[in-house]
Amino acid sequence: MLDLSVLGEISETALTRDVEIAATESGLPNTFVPGRNIIFLTFAAAVAYRRGLKHVVTGVCETDFSGYPDCRDDTVKALQVALNLGMESRFVLETPLMWIDKAQTWTLAEELGGMALVNLIRTSTLTCYDGEVGTSTSGDEAAACARHASCARRDIDSSPSELQRFR
Ligand SMILES: [Zn+2]
Repeated sequence: MLDLSVLGEISETALTRDVEIAATESGLPNTFVPGRNIIFLTFAAAVAYRRGLKHVVTGVCETDFSGYPDCRDDTVKALQVALNLGMESRFVLETPLMWIDKAQTWTLAEELGGMALVNLIRTSTLTCYDGEVGTSTSGDEAAACARHASCARRDIDSSPSELQRFR
């Protein structure tokens, strides 16, 4: 586990400061943390370099509605080039979720690990910007609050009945 809390010291966002989530003049929500995914992938590549690994996997997704520029395919491809030049390596930044929506992502999880994996993700990971674990609309404990669109979307798309729709 790497401590990257230094990012919070240099950014003014709703995820790194105690401010309300809102749209900014740029059109992006103030939950966008400039440089975050670039820093994460750079650190991951540095670890991969040390360990002699080739593939670095990230869960970024261009179909995510927030439009974060560091989740875009062009950004990841450009970063892959920069990392390979800068470390004289042949890393491949893998983005298996890039072109699929959240419902398809849940279906992929079900295909890879069955409902055991789906339920593990639902109950042991968070989507919430406030770090809140709430009760899902399907009634079981799941990581979803009632305030954020991303939490509602995750909740709806991961319920077992919704998974059935995409088979
Ligand atoms: Zn939330």
